[in-house]
Amino acid sequence: MASATPLELRPLGNTGLKLSCVGFGASPLGNVFGPISESDAIATVRQAFSLGINFFDTSPYYGGTLSEKMLGIALKALGVARNEYIVSTKCGRYKEGFDFSAERVTRSIDESLERLQLDYVDILQCHDIEFGNLDQIVNETIPALLKLKEAGKVRFIGITGLPLEIFSYVLDRVPPGTVDVILSYCHFSINDSTLEDLLPYLKSKGVGVISASPLAMGLLTENGPPEWHPASPELKAACQDAAAYCKEKGKNISKLAVQYSLLNKDISTVLVGMNSVKQVNVFSILTSLYVDENVAAAVELATVGKDEKTLSQIEGILKPVKNQTWPSGIQQC
Ligand code: NAD
Repeated sequence: MASATPLELRPLGNTGLKLSCVGFGASPLGNVFGPISESDAIATVRQAFSLGINFFDTSPYYGGTLSEKMLGIALKALGVARNEYIVSTKCGRYKEGFDFSAERVTRSIDESLERLQLDYVDILQCHDIEFGNLDQIVNETIPALLKLKEAGKVRFIGITGLPLEIFSYVLDRVPPGTVDVILSYCHFSINDSTLEDLLPYLKSKGVGVISASPLAMGLLTENGPPEWHPASPELKAACQDAAAYCKEKGKNISKLAVQYSLLNKDISTVLVGMNSVKQVNVFSILTSLYVDENVAAAVELATVGKDEKTLSQIEGILKPVKNQTWPSGIQQC
């Protein structure tokens, strides 16, 4: 589906990078949700790129390194100049567990670059830092990443995680301009918009904002979330009520959810995971459909505007569970 309206590009903090407002979350390329062939991975990434998606996010953790490898193959197959796409990967979280030591993250980038078949990544992020010691992140991990930046292996440094307090904990303790980017997830969706309160602070620090999981990891889909989803039964039920309401009205809750997440332009990109959870054998069909739908949702928002009436009805259904989240990591701030 080629669109006449290009996908909006948004600046990422002080980095000078301009990211497509819809980003490609590459965890599905790691067989996280079911088997995917190399040709499917290539086709999916090509389709996303041709529709204007220029930002691809992965991690050595996704599929135990497979996502990075598949993304590397698929990006190479695009056959375009390296500066036409932006790649972020992560460090500190692996299939074997967490390790934010300077030694491990320094080794990690070389392994990632080899799997991605790249000379550098645009963004290297410490992955889910709430599972590590935050003082180690400040005093050991980030200084190690700065050396990688000096060595030209990494252009920008980021941190990711679920609890919002971790971001200010780290940003308040590192020199200004050290951390370029944060990646937050499940906090700027219709059911939880708590990231909004942190945006002025992040802006004042010149930190770029990536928001992942606009569909709340499947809560805001007709199919519902996967078995392992950590939300409470109450939150799951309310989201399913909202999805059923949309269906009854002939609306698509996922489209509305992607559009909601795109509304705040201080968020540079919304990272969507375009995978098939239940229908593992139809990866390419379903993924292609989701890539098309999510890009179309962004284009429709830019050209037609939001569906205010349905959105306010869904917000009403979700009001009793608004901003409800779940614990993640070791409590330390
Ligand atoms: P998501 O909210 O985007 O949900 C993805 C789910 O929605 C999948 O089950 C997918 O099949 C389904 N889906 C996607 N588009 C759809 C559509 N148009 N209609 C119906 N269903 C649709 O969340 P996610 O997959 O958790 O996150 C996206 C990406 O963000 C990840 O791949 C990763 O790159 C990044 N991420 C990073 C972190 C971190 O660093 N800690 C955490 C979460 C996500």
